[in-house]
Amino acid sequence: MPTLFTKIIQREIPANIVYEDEHVVAFRDIDPKAPTHILIVPRSEIPGLADLPETGDHMYLLNAAKKIAEQEGLTEGYRLVINQGESAGQSVPHLHAHLIGGRPLGWPPG
Ligand code: C5P
Repeated sequence: MPTLFTKIIQREIPANIVYEDEHVVAFRDIDPKAPTHILIVPRSEIPGLADLPETGDHMYLLNAAKKIAEQEGLTEGYRLVINQGESAGQSVPHLHAHLIGGRPLGWPPG
């Protein structure tokens, strides 16, 4: 079933897209939690990390994160977060990684 993020990927819902390649589309979070807050979303409709197939090259998510962090000038550091499941804060059932940076980030996250 198409998710909100599929609609963004297909340009049916507007978003501020900052990067895309054959595997992922990345856009600025509509409710940013830091000066840089970008969602990296696989084009394929994988509901969450728990549904990621065990086989296959999924390095594309990390490779995209690295490139976008460079593009955004996050030289001081950044964080990549995947919320899996409602109790972890996942609200959209389409695998996505949050790339967050541009301010000091506390640890542990809430
Ligand atoms: O990890 P989680 O599923 O909560 O992340 C979903 C994210 O999608 C939220 O940070 C929310 O602000 C963002 N969002 C968005 N554009 C929308 C709807 C939600 O960037 N149209």
